[in-house]
Amino acid sequence: MGPNSCTNYIGRFAPSPSGPLHDGSLVAAMASFLDARAHQGQWLLRIEDIDTPRVVAGADRIIMQQLQALEMHWDGKVIWQSSRLNRYQDVFNQLKERGLIYGCACTRKEIASNAIKNGRLGLNGERPYAGTCRHGIAGNRPARAWRLVMPEGITRFVDRWQGEQSQDVVNEVGDIIVKRADGLFAYQLVVVIDDHDQGITDIVRGNDLLSSTARQHCIAHMLGYAPPRMMHVPLVLDAAGRKLSKQNHATAIDLQNPLASLGKAWQALGFAPLPAGSVTQFWQQAVPVWHRRFGLTTFTVDSGFHPAGR
Ligand code: GLU
Repeated sequence: MGPNSCTNYIGRFAPSPSGPLHDGSLVAAMASFLDARAHQGQWLLRIEDIDTPRVVAGADRIIMQQLQALEMHWDGKVIWQSSRLNRYQDVFNQLKERGLIYGCACTRKEIASNAIKNGRLGLNGERPYAGTCRHGIAGNRPARAWRLVMPEGITRFVDRWQGEQSQDVVNEVGDIIVKRADGLFAYQLVVVIDDHDQGITDIVRGNDLLSSTARQHCIAHMLGYAPPRMMHVPLVLDAAGRKLSKQNHATAIDLQNPLASLGKAWQALGFAPLPAGSVTQFWQQAVPVWHRRFGLTTFTVDSGFHPAGR
């Protein structure tokens, strides 16, 4: 337990170390930090370095230094996903023994043309997987990736920012990849295992992950985990209306002017400027404002998963 904890709230910030934090990632970090502090909860830091081709050496250290410079002090020990591969493999084996994981030989191209043939393109142009290899791989082709059988039914949850959400995961997404063709475990599986193992009660993150939430709740349900409460905050867009991201060459947070960087993120969350004269004052003023707007007093949690027929 961190020094600040006196409730059972446990939040987290889970950056991928593909570069330093920029103005967009700071908004997600700020929102999760404020929500944890406003509930006297813990705020954990997890370095999501599972996708090794995207990892930039040293970016984890830079992210930690940026957070410290902004006085965003995390509780407890930092966890790196790369140190948890045995745990992920155990869960993978359990699901496989239960007959819920199967090998898939389909290439991206085949999946894309299948989705178009069936007239199905999911959210964000995502191509649903039609379940081609669910009952065995045709011909003598080797398995490339491993997929998890998604349950029939609509998954619903209430997002604290975006409101009621629902998704027919098996039809809109299809059975999801849990181990990729390059042998790496997929983000969608490991994030659920990590959030469970770290006892996360509340996930606050960027809205780009809203469409991943229903499938993550399905995985949690299959593993017998209670899904956390969710809040997806608005994304910062660049001048061209694209998500500010490392791929779009967003630059690192300006730590020469930490107060200005915090102020920008704060206003991106829709708040009026604060009269803070220092970083410490900024947090002292921001936490109660956040609590007034988002304090969890009467909030109830939806269980997240409603199997077909109920
Ligand atoms: N590692 C993910 C990212 O940086 C965030 C995952 C999450 O918050 O669930 O986009």
